[in-house]
Amino acid sequence: MTLPDAFVARMQRLLGSEYVSFAHALQAERSLGLRVNTLKIGVQDFQQRVSWRLTPIPWCPSGFYYEESDQPGKHVWHATGVYYLQDPSAMAVAQMAAPQPGERVLDLCAAPGGKATHLSALMQDQGLLVANEVNQQRVKALAENLERWGSKNVIITSAQPAQLARRFGPYFDCIVVDAPCSGEGMFRKDDGAREQWNEGLVRACAATQKEILQAAYEMLAPGGRLVYSTCTFSVDENEDNVAWLLANFSDLEVVSTLQHPSWQPGFHGDERDPLRLTARLWPHRLAGEGHFLACLRKAEGPPTARKIQLEPGVYKEPDKELKSFAAETLRFLPPGPYLRFGDHVYQVLEDLPLLQGLRVVRPGWHLGELRKGRFIPSHALALSLRPEEVQRCLHLSAGIPEAAAYLAGHTLATALPDGWALVCVDGFPLGWGKVSNRVLKNHYPKGLRR
Ligand code: SAM
Repeated sequence: MTLPDAFVARMQRLLGSEYVSFAHALQAERSLGLRVNTLKIGVQDFQQRVSWRLTPIPWCPSGFYYEESDQPGKHVWHATGVYYLQDPSAMAVAQMAAPQPGERVLDLCAAPGGKATHLSALMQDQGLLVANEVNQQRVKALAENLERWGSKNVIITSAQPAQLARRFGPYFDCIVVDAPCSGEGMFRKDDGAREQWNEGLVRACAATQKEILQAAYEMLAPGGRLVYSTCTFSVDENEDNVAWLLANFSDLEVVSTLQHPSWQPGFHGDERDPLRLTARLWPHRLAGEGHFLACLRKAEGPPTARKIQLEPGVYKEPDKELKSFAAETLRFLPPGPYLRFGDHVYQVLEDLPLLQGLRVVRPGWHLGELRKGRFIPSHALALSLRPEEVQRCLHLSAGIPEAAAYLAGHTLATALPDGWALVCVDGFPLGWGKVSNRVLKNHYPKGLRR
């Protein structure tokens, strides 16, 4: 792999004699990681149930290194959202943010969803996670990944950070800015990142990052945590931006919430320099692509009014179509409150913020669609249910051809009575089917079939 000359010169200046091992690491095979979905399975249970060679990732209790030949991305379980494939060093970000169940959390640059799925799991699906992605193509992958993950506590938006800041004000307990960056930590896996890199890109990214951080600061409630991260190595995009935050917002301080012996402190001056509390994950010092991380806390202030305007369309009485679907198919009724977007029904927060005027991709947990007096359950509903919550389940196991046939969109033979049935593999939902006369019609989304 040929590295850009200017990048080599920069890194030599930054790392001195350590540059040789850094350059060597960039030429080596990368380490692969998967993170277990603790909303769906316990970590130990997962380890016992798969035959893959897994090695724990020290800074993430639900993260494991895996061997490429085990190919978890091709396994049927991947379609159930039981795990997410993610660079091991990227798993440090949500761990550092440490969101608590019940908190209001914002992932400001969220696609394709590595940090957002992790945040939702750490929150145990309780509280509110706003996952925002400005790019309208990338937001689709975000929605798909969060749907597969089975998160119910998420609003997905596609807005500019400044627009969100105008709407929300200081609303969030915890904000993650996993910023767009010059992507130097992607060089090993992405030729495009290497080809696009230049000094101008580093400068442009550093300027954009400051704009995003300004908006994040405005949305952080007193006492709240802001985690800033990039997958790049330049000081301009990392320590310099943290220094910029400290210089511009006197109520912010850098805090050290998570450390690991294989991490290095960020580049800093003397022992009083707060930048010593930032973290560098280097690909030559640990198994991972590399990351920069900083956690900042906003000072407690007078209890500011965190109240914001609420969405007026929220209603409490379930639609009759949902009620009869739940009575025929589920063992409970999603309790609401609800919101309709066109014919689509969502379960939303009691105090759902006003969403009008924002580009909202999902205002909450997508339950399904009202169509000609019937309720058509959504894929998101299937992937967030447990089999015991459903009256009819078609149970398959990963090793049998029917599981692959279902993912390919085929009908399946079944002895189940007529009606909607949840198709599960090894006890994890894959999607819906509708049984009629011993045939299960396939409702796995067409765009996901393989
Ligand atoms: N957090 C994501 C994950 O873990 O899967 C990765 C985020 S990626 C490093 C940065 C994201 O920021 C990209 O999806 C990109 O589209 C988005 N982005 C680009 N320009 C932006 C801007 N001006 N404001 C906010 N987000 C931006």
